[in-house]
Amino acid sequence: MASESPDANPSAFARPTPTAGDANRTVIRFRGTRGSIPSPGPATVRYGGNTSCVEIRFGDTLLILDAGTGIRALGAELTEVGDPVRATVLLTHFHWDHVQGLPFFHPMHLASSLLHIVGPADRDEYVEQRLARQMEPIFFPVPFHGVRAECRFTAWREGPLDVDGVAVRVFPVRHPSRTVGYRIETPSASICYVPDNELAGGRYEVPSDWRRRFEAFLAGADVLIHDTMYTADEYERHEGWGHSTTQQALDLAAAAGVKRLVGFHHAPERSDDDLDRLRRTLGPPTGSPDDPTPSDFSFSYAAEGDELHFG
Ligand SMILES: [Zn+2]
Ligand SMILES: [Zn+2]
Repeated sequence: MASESPDANPSAFARPTPTAGDANRTVIRFRGTRGSIPSPGPATVRYGGNTSCVEIRFGDTLLILDAGTGIRALGAELTEVGDPVRATVLLTHFHWDHVQGLPFFHPMHLASSLLHIVGPADRDEYVEQRLARQMEPIFFPVPFHGVRAECRFTAWREGPLDVDGVAVRVFPVRHPSRTVGYRIETPSASICYVPDNELAGGRYEVPSDWRRRFEAFLAGADVLIHDTMYTADEYERHEGWGHSTTQQALDLAAAAGVKRLVGFHHAPERSDDDLDRLRRTLGPPTGSPDDPTPSDFSFSYAAEGDELHFG
């Protein structure tokens, strides 16, 4: 996939010009933090049971990262506000846990909505076709061509995508099926979202210098939301399944000079108490030789309902 890798030069990530006051504010809201399959119940109430979905707001711009089951409640809130919905949905790939909420995203069924859906595919129409498959009559009562929103589809390409003044870049990652991570630059925050990615082990069609390019892609980000699905023991039994451990993600964050790592895509069987225990047992990031433990670095596991504010 070498030809699909974007230019990983960090200087390419120039931020748009900041504006004054609240107009400059970027807000991240975690709508679904779980991997693989929804896992509701008393053991997961704090970190949440919904699958991957993260909302990013900058001014009037609404970006939705993945359309797991967490997108349903977001859709309900948007409908309640009552304004026509304008949103860009950035899909990392088409595994169920990243698209299964879309049929239940209420703005999809309103003629006043305008949705731009971006995903990894060779052609724009393939993005639509893949989403339509999960709404075929055998799986779902409403066909995709029956949705009322005006939908536009874009297959990701090399180079930045401009979403209402927010610069978005993609990077192919190591995961079964074609999968990407995103880097989003607003004037007040640089946010990287990589929910499914195997940092060590497995066999994937990526260039030999993938790791170096990936670190350059993430370099200096304010937040990296990254796959931390497995413990070290679990990983030994699941090498090649496309996911990482928390320690691997911490090492990556340190090497890329990221300011904050948010662990994401929790295993469905991981309870709130398990995550708290894991958090307590983690060692410090190993870091790079020149800057082993950046003083402003922080780590947390993503919890449904959490917000991060910038600017
Ligand atoms: Zn996933
Ligand atoms: Zn996946």
